[in-house]
Amino acid sequence: MKRMKRRQFVGGLAAAAGVTACARQDTGAPAGAAVTNQTFEWSVVTSWPPKFPGLGIAVDNLAEYIDRASAGRLKIKVYAGGELVPPFEVFDAVSRGTVEMGHGASYYHKGKVDAAQFFTSIPFGMTQLEMNGWIYYGGGLELWRELYEPFDLVPFMCGNTGVQMGGWFNKEINSVADLEGLKMRIPGLGGEVLRRAGGTPVTLPGSEIFTSLQTGAIDATEWVGPYNDVSFGLHQAAKYYYYPGWQEPGPALECIVNREAWDSLPADLKAIVEIACQAITTDMAAEYVNGNSNALRQLLDDPEVEVRAFPPDVIDYLKSITEEIIAELVAADPAAAKIHASYRAYLDKSADNQRISEQAFLQTRS
Ligand code: CA
Repeated sequence: MKRMKRRQFVGGLAAAAGVTACARQDTGAPAGAAVTNQTFEWSVVTSWPPKFPGLGIAVDNLAEYIDRASAGRLKIKVYAGGELVPPFEVFDAVSRGTVEMGHGASYYHKGKVDAAQFFTSIPFGMTQLEMNGWIYYGGGLELWRELYEPFDLVPFMCGNTGVQMGGWFNKEINSVADLEGLKMRIPGLGGEVLRRAGGTPVTLPGSEIFTSLQTGAIDATEWVGPYNDVSFGLHQAAKYYYYPGWQEPGPALECIVNREAWDSLPADLKAIVEIACQAITTDMAAEYVNGNSNALRQLLDDPEVEVRAFPPDVIDYLKSITEEIIAELVAADPAAAKIHASYRAYLDKSADNQRISEQAFLQTRS
């Protein structure tokens, strides 16, 4: 009975990812059965600094889970950003088949696959819980797979940092006028919003943020949240720490697998990869809740740091620009239009539910 249930569960995950049919075709065996002793040695390239808390450690954990669950039949060597390929070239390296697997964030592909940004996070968009609902149950994963198909990539959601922080600023933001001329590291659509507000968005990999902020090459940066920001020492390079992270309310990370490499795996190893990615998503949420709570306490106790909310009129302004920019993205790109229609419908439905559940409850605790 127990065995039956587990098989149904594995089959269900594979079906959710749209892979059951091809997995069964490949092997002629039911998903979940070990069908071969063939071993595989893969490499995974990432956009993260080595052993970086949360984002980087997640990839080490992913490789370890897959190794253990497959009894060593699928071994994956982890390369941090820049070790094998630069942090922002993960997509191309896996697409070309230079390596079998990559881990990063889909909004780094802006300019190449603009519609991919919906699968990380868009400003004022879905939270982590809502992303999970959309990706696994609301048709999001199927749209993601379809979008990456021409690049010979199979994407999996693999982690989420939860709602981020607005970022570290060496200038006070008291009104929308203070955004004028602001040079800030902020990727994705958030960066486009800042540009239209009169600022200069810069895209830098995590490893270059501290020095850029400390030397004044940038006035501000967003990165992740207290846990990761403290590990980069950003609190030693800027004074004002603004919230909330309007630009990234629930950014999902991605694991991408080269199509040919994916097709070469037997059904049980495919299931192990899928389930390991889901485990990382759960794991990372727990690590960030814990790490952010500890690091925020440290920052609140630090006399050199001021934790501040963005003024409401600044948030309203950024929200109105976001709506314009998304409308333009959708008008210019049919893929973005299709994905946005699904994303927006899901968010509207979910927002009603969140309003009377998480949001209402959290207000009772404040
Ligand atoms: Ca960020």
